[in-house]
Parts: sequence; C-alpha cells; structure tokens
Amino acid sequence: MNTLSSKEKDILLNSIRDIQDFPKPGIIFKDITTLLGNPHALNTLMDHLTDRYLNYDLDFIAGIDARGFIFGSILADRLGIGFVPVRKKGKLPYTTVAEKYSLEYGFDEVEIHIDAFGEKKGAKVLLVDDLIATGGTAKAAVNLINKVGAECVEACFIMELGFLNGREGFNTQVYSVLQID
Ligand code: AMP
Repeated sequence: MNTLSSKEKDILLNSIRDIQDFPKPGIIFKDITTLLGNPHALNTLMDHLTDRYLNYDLDFIAGIDARGFIFGSILADRLGIGFVPVRKKGKLPYTTVAEKYSLEYGFDEVEIHIDAFGEKKGAKVLLVDDLIATGGTAKAAVNLINKVGAECVEACFIMELGFLNGREGFNTQVYSVLQID
C-alpha cells in the first residue's frame, strides 16, 4: 500500500486554502475548492486513495453531503464500484433511514436510501468525506450504513482536525490523508 511522500503531502496541503472566520468567527474553514481546481493536486490525492483501496474488495463508496460526494464519486469510478450519497435531511426522494447527531447547540440529521446497497446483506462500504472535525456527522453516517444492512469497513477523510479527537469512538476503522494540528 502506498504512503504519501512529504513532497506529495505538501502538494495537497498547499492546494487547500484556509478561510478565517467562516462560517462564523473563530472557525478556520478548510476550502477544498482550490484543490479541486488544481489537476496535479487532485490527481495526486486520487492516485493515493485508489492505490490504498484497490485491494479492500469494496462493494460501494458512501459519500457525505456535499464535499464527500466529489471525492467519493471519483474514487468509486476509479475502483469500478457504485456510489451512495448520505444526505442532509429532506433531500433524498425515496424511502430513507435517518440518524440524528448532536451539534454544539441542537442536533442535525443525515439520511440514506433504505435500498442504497441493494438486496445483498453485508455489502462492504467505504465512507468518504473531506474533513473530520468532531466526528459527529461521520459517526451518524457509519450507523446509517450499518442500519441498512451493509458493513462500513473504514471511514476515510482527506483532512483530520486532530485536536478535536473526532476519531475516538468510531464503530469502524478511521483513515485520514492529512493531519491538521
Ligand atoms: P464534524 O461532524 O464535526 O466532524 O464536522 C464534519 C463536517 O463539517 C464535514 O462534512 C466537513 O466538511 C465540515 N467541517 C467541519 N469543520 C470544518 C472546517 N474547519 N473546514 C471545512 N469543513 C468543515
């Protein structure tokens, strides 16, 4: 399995833009639109992920609304498998299963189609999102995947805000490409 060289990590880190105080004061937003607009950086990232997951024998990639859709879809296409969206409440048109999770104030909810992984039980699924902060969204997504009869074998993030300890308490393995301190 390939590991990224420090030069490749720098290519990725330099392609992601920090936006101060977005969407509210005190937050440094990691903007991946600049990575998407940089074909060399995007290719470096997708080559790494393709190589890592080639031998996982996955059946599906599930991506979290909305940036997880982008990286997840590219990876699914490269691996020749299907893509499943995990969406914010009220966006999916067919029968859904929902999972609530806590925010700093209040709660949010994600949904998945009840038949997203087909008839066969135990489909092997990789969850993908751009960033893990507290981990609340991704943990809810892992629960959803398992609730509808599939098996989430790993949760994969492009970036991890390590100081928030979001990877603790996951029901699956966690992998992140870049650690942000
Ligand atoms: P959490 O549930 O706290 O792990 O938050 C993860 C979700 O919020 C992901 O879908 C991220 O895209 C988004 N997110 C949280 N913090 C940031 C940040 N600092 N920069 C960019 N996206 C973020």
